[in-house]
Amino acid sequence: MSDIEISQGTPLEPIEKIAAKVGLTPDQIEPYGHTKAKINLPLAGDHQTGKLVLVTSINPTPAGEGKSTVVVGLGDAMNRAGHKTVLALREPSMGPVMGLKGGATGGGYAQVVPMEDINLHFTGDFHALTEAHDTLAALIDNHIQQGNELRLDPRRIVWKRVLDINDRELRQTVIGLGGRTSGVPRQDGFDITVASELMAVLCLSEDLSDLKRRVNRILIGYNEDKEPVTVGDLKVGGAITLLLKDAIKPNLVQTLEHNPAIIHGGPFANIAHGCNSVLATQTALQLGDYAVTEAGFGADLGGEKFMDIKTPVLGKTPDAVVIVATVRALKYNGGVKRADLETENVAALQTGSANLKRHIASMQQYGVPVVVAINRFTSDTDAEIAALTANIEALNVPVATTTVWADGGAGAMDLADKVVAATQQPSHFTRLTPEHADLVTQMTAITQKIYGGAKVELSTKATRQLKTFAKHGWDKLPVCMAKTQYSLTDDAHQLGAPTDFTIHVREFAPRLGAGFVVALTGNVLTMPGLPKHPAALDMDIDADGKITGLF
Ligand code: ADP
Repeated sequence: MSDIEISQGTPLEPIEKIAAKVGLTPDQIEPYGHTKAKINLPLAGDHQTGKLVLVTSINPTPAGEGKSTVVVGLGDAMNRAGHKTVLALREPSMGPVMGLKGGATGGGYAQVVPMEDINLHFTGDFHALTEAHDTLAALIDNHIQQGNELRLDPRRIVWKRVLDINDRELRQTVIGLGGRTSGVPRQDGFDITVASELMAVLCLSEDLSDLKRRVNRILIGYNEDKEPVTVGDLKVGGAITLLLKDAIKPNLVQTLEHNPAIIHGGPFANIAHGCNSVLATQTALQLGDYAVTEAGFGADLGGEKFMDIKTPVLGKTPDAVVIVATVRALKYNGGVKRADLETENVAALQTGSANLKRHIASMQQYGVPVVVAINRFTSDTDAEIAALTANIEALNVPVATTTVWADGGAGAMDLADKVVAATQQPSHFTRLTPEHADLVTQMTAITQKIYGGAKVELSTKATRQLKTFAKHGWDKLPVCMAKTQYSLTDDAHQLGAPTDFTIHVREFAPRLGAGFVVALTGNVLTMPGLPKHPAALDMDIDADGKITGLF
């Protein structure tokens, strides 16, 4: 059965009942229909009481390897084992939903539901973010049109426009054509909503006041004297924050096994910081004895950013890290073509396991216990599973094979035991670099200690930017690496665990509201395109509203 058929075949419980399971009273939630609700914050009490489990993975193959599926199954298994567990996940972007196969609601018998709502418009958070982002863009251009009191240089506006659609045609645009009444012509472009700084800001904000403070700090461009101009200078921080008043509230839904899941915010991990909102994770920690959360793509991207960008704001470090691996992905990393992934190949698996070992070592450097979860596919052979298990055990790392896609929470009982045991071990969180290290020191540490590479090389433009950043005091902000998810290097085709490579930084983007600087490496794009066969071609809805083809 497809994911959507399983989801449609499972009756959901009313959201009030799910809320009651974690002690949320009817006045603490705002239902959106019968099966979704916003949570009204703040909740009284201490939000740091639960144990935090971070789930990350090896470098994904283009098919997506089941990280969200394992997160959902692990949460259900922990609840089955009697540990009150609340999930904290990201909201899916409609770009990849319509493009490559890949929502973010898990799969098989380990899903968060209603999956068709969560994968499509959900509670409207991404629309609110898109509208807020583009309202700011319109206000900037209107300011220029109406006399330009701030003397904004139209050639140095850094605030682009966004859409939550994979639309490569909009990467580079010219706006303001049509004469005096239609604005001031300038070059512009669109990013995908999940790359918007407002998304990062929303996900890192502690409350509405913090959100407004951060929005006001956002850099929109430079004036004729090359001095930075912010949202605060434009005096529209209040209006932009107002447009996000509901989007800032975390969303409550349920798993197929009727356990609570909080789904909120969704920056991509390759071009943004890749973690659900701080508010969602804090709420999960407060409502559950365990909060299980996920960071996007591999441990080199979402995992690193969770540790280095999110934990300082969260004020809580993970008690255990789970790394999801699949036989398929490791064989792909070991050189097997996509079409041959279903054929047994222990030798390629052994070669590709270098990728998993790199990620284990990376996460262990943070001083947090690591557990490996093997997400079993039906095509995996016993010999392959045995070889991979032995490989991981040889490193003295706990490992469990899960079958949550086929069996739901029952398929991860062993993993749940191992994860709970790991959270009881002492964890001594260690930062990768000292606080306030400069950007080059941070990027070099990430390249060497996380990616396994040798050095960082800056383009002429990036070098020039660093000089002006030092002048403005931005050179010691945390770095957010924008890098391909498919490789530890900045070249998507280099699989496995390469060494001695260079990371090429072509440009920096200051994100002063989020409080970090994005370093764009290789040729990573902030507006994806659609593939030759977009997932949209297989989707349909009939006269009765029954949906097909949504995975
Ligand atoms: P990720 O979070 O790594 O992108 P997902 O959990 O979203 O991956 O899963 C991607 C797709 O793979 C989903 O359609 C899901 O149903 C499918 N999938 C995940 N695990 C398995 C498995 N063990 N067997 C078969 N299909 C799976």
